[in-house]
Amino acid sequence: GANWRRTMEILRDFEEKCGTPIEKLKQVADAMVMEMHAGLASDDGSSIKMLISYVDNLPTGDEDGLFYALDLGGTNFRVLRVQLGGKDGGIKHQEFAEVPIPVELMIGTSDDLFGYIASEVAKFIAQEGPEFQLPSGRERELGFTFSFPVMQTSIDSGTLITWAKGFSIDDTVGKDVVEELAKALKKQGVDMHVTALVNDTVGTLAGGQFSNKDVIAAVILGTGTNAAYVERAEAIPKWRGPLPKSGEMVINMEWGNFQTSNLPLTEYDYALDYHSPNSGEQIYEKMISGMYLGEIVRRVLCRMAEEASFFGDTIPPKLHIPFILRTPDMSAMHHDSSPDLEIVGSTMKDILEIPMLSLKKRKVIYDLCKIVATRGARLAAAGISGILKIVGRDTLSSNDEKRKSVIAMDGGLYEHYEEFRKCLEHTLKELLGDKVWERISIEHANDGSGIGAALLAASHSRYL
Ligand code: ADP
Ligand code: MG
Repeated sequence: GANWRRTMEILRDFEEKCGTPIEKLKQVADAMVMEMHAGLASDDGSSIKMLISYVDNLPTGDEDGLFYALDLGGTNFRVLRVQLGGKDGGIKHQEFAEVPIPVELMIGTSDDLFGYIASEVAKFIAQEGPEFQLPSGRERELGFTFSFPVMQTSIDSGTLITWAKGFSIDDTVGKDVVEELAKALKKQGVDMHVTALVNDTVGTLAGGQFSNKDVIAAVILGTGTNAAYVERAEAIPKWRGPLPKSGEMVINMEWGNFQTSNLPLTEYDYALDYHSPNSGEQIYEKMISGMYLGEIVRRVLCRMAEEASFFGDTIPPKLHIPFILRTPDMSAMHHDSSPDLEIVGSTMKDILEIPMLSLKKRKVIYDLCKIVATRGARLAAAGISGILKIVGRDTLSSNDEKRKSVIAMDGGLYEHYEEFRKCLEHTLKELLGDKVWERISIEHANDGSGIGAALLAASHSRYL
């Protein structure tokens, strides 16, 4: 039978090690600011790369014409076409197609991955109605949202530094991903020029600012996590070129790789990291993002099964399958408001093929989900407060009291995991204080990254 004392020991020990008291979060925010400065100073001085995006002007709202975007960064990829209306015309039409990436392509060859993407783009264009016409003599232009760390040398080129989020294709690393895509498009006979290469955070920032001028940063909480913000060019010591006219530069932080000794890591996090294809990397992301939260819960449940016979005398075989408990399942359990935690019971039954659990055990599973989500949401809030700090929006300025700061937020985790979202917002308020919090808002930029990439293709069009 179950060893209840041991179960509670494992639960309480885990909860304690996941603790994120506010003083600790403030240290994490300060460490984030330090790492940001170090990353702005040099390319290898920090756990976060603070990549220069070559976007020194965000879209103005005057962009006009038909543009395309491709969004590759997680489980699905998306192709979009966007008809922009010119000065104050906003977005006239948008259409998209979404296709899952076959898992074998995530760990196959570069040619196969880009070949597949190009063939889907070809399909998308083949289905295009006659209302989408380019002026004659013009090639289609595309903004490519590619949400992995890329070292850019211009707005339309950049070499892949490393994969993440389950992708692992060795022969792409070190290559120019725009060239890889252009080659594949040409092979498919697609007449399309890749005009802008952008990270999803940068796309979300561009899309967010298009609709709200107070947007200063973008954060993604989806399969992975990352952030981008507008920095003063003169505050970027590693920038070697002439200062852009705008005086600004968008920085893609690559904050998923953030590391500091203050992160509340547990033995389960170490084990998850050890068994991941990018071991030692993306530690912050592995504590926060949708790809990993459910897996952390599974690992604790495994320990309970092994050491406290939590599921009875035999361990449910499915419990040993990595990533079988997905974050959407975890969030469904965490949102279970029924008095006898019916959804926790049925989710466990569906996923692990175990008979109904007692209410006491269902409560343990509910608590586990809550502990993991709370830690992730609070750490994400600390990261955001780090951004607000570095741009001086964490205090009330005396000269401009009404100044708003808006964070454009996107990603399935933020969108669908309400408890995570509520915890993040409430923690940010706790970190900043009520007065500053009144000046901050977090806005959901639905699919902002795709639209943002199309906007950036428009504002960097070769026909301008
Ligand atoms: P991506 O980050 O791959 O571009 P999304 O922004 O759509 O894609 O995020 C997808 C991720 O969001 C999934 O991997 C999952 O972890 C998370 N997610 C989706 N639905 C839910 C949900 N209902 N509850 C919690 N997390 C969810
Ligand atoms: Mg995305």
